[in-house]
Amino acid sequence: MMDSFTYEALPMRVMFGSGALSRIAEETDRLGLRRVLVLSTPEQRDLADQVAAVLGDRSAGVFDQARPHVPVPTVAAASRAAAESRADGCVAAGGGSTIGLGKALALRQDLPVVALPTTYAGSEMTPIWGLTENNRKQTGRDRRVLPRSVVYDPDLIASLPATVAATSGLNAIAHAVEALYAPDVSPVIAAMAEQGVRDLASNFTGPAALRGAWLCGACLGATTMGLHHKLCHVLGGMLDLPHAETHAILLPHVAAFNLPAAPDAAAALSRALNTDDPAAALAKLTADTGAPTNLAALGVTETDLASVVNEVLANPYANPRPVHRPDLEALLHRAFRPA
Ligand code: NAD
Repeated sequence: MMDSFTYEALPMRVMFGSGALSRIAEETDRLGLRRVLVLSTPEQRDLADQVAAVLGDRSAGVFDQARPHVPVPTVAAASRAAAESRADGCVAAGGGSTIGLGKALALRQDLPVVALPTTYAGSEMTPIWGLTENNRKQTGRDRRVLPRSVVYDPDLIASLPATVAATSGLNAIAHAVEALYAPDVSPVIAAMAEQGVRDLASNFTGPAALRGAWLCGACLGATTMGLHHKLCHVLGGMLDLPHAETHAILLPHVAAFNLPAAPDAAAALSRALNTDDPAAALAKLTADTGAPTNLAALGVTETDLASVVNEVLANPYANPRPVHRPDLEALLHRAFRPA
């Protein structure tokens, strides 16, 4: 029972709907932006060109070199592109990697960001930034990196391959699961988390799934994550594993470990997933993705697991159930072995 809590709303403006991309200039105009640099990965150059075409003479061009984990040299190149084109803002069109680049420009140069998310990762709803230099990823929280406006267009999700949509969806569900047992959960966030899981778990494509990803992203932005996110961060950072797949593999194992110690979270997930056993339902969702279902399949070795355990135990983090070395070793070995 939540009988004591603090809730701080983040100042986010969200425009949601099929075809919303065609209205993106309304958002840049509302922010008073006149020359907007469009950011994308090389793979999503076509989308960036489409955005630039919609912006017309408000476009300052396209920077299409966004990469995973926001490398500092990429940020420097994007900064140069922004300065040379005299951009006064940017549109980040893509997944967490592209939105992460937009956030880095906001942090370094105060460039306002409009986000056009095309995955369910949820970065657009959080004040969390990340930067990678010499193989070390640094992260932090700063309100300046919050996108000023987020434009969700479900049509843009249609190009996500089904497996990618499912793993990205489980990445989003993981935000909601950990928000439900976070020390700073509130009734608002709990309601968003439950609905976000319900929206996503029933179908990883379509408008409801993107709406669910928005709700789950808002949960990530508002609460302190626990063991699951800590494990994914350490595994991803040490071994350069794919972000969404790592989340999808670990989530059922962490849920099975944590939910017995978090009855309110377990009840909310049972309602959202329409089951008595939410951890088993999450395991089924992971098995059905078509993506790898164990860490060994991502190339992790038994030797790696020992270093991960040490790193996770070295820095404390919020979790509903105390995590001792034998528990963590057992959990990681369950996630490691092929079923
Ligand atoms: P991503 O942004 O790296 O995208 C993966 C690939 O899919 C890219 O090649 C991209 O161009 C492509 N892609 C994206 N959307 C597509 C679409 N609709 N159709 C076809 N291809 C598409 O992956 P991600 O999972 O969205 O983001 C992961 C990154 O985001 C990680 O680095 C993670 O740390 C970060 N992240 C940060 C936060 C935060 O709050 N700061 C939150 C979540 C994730």
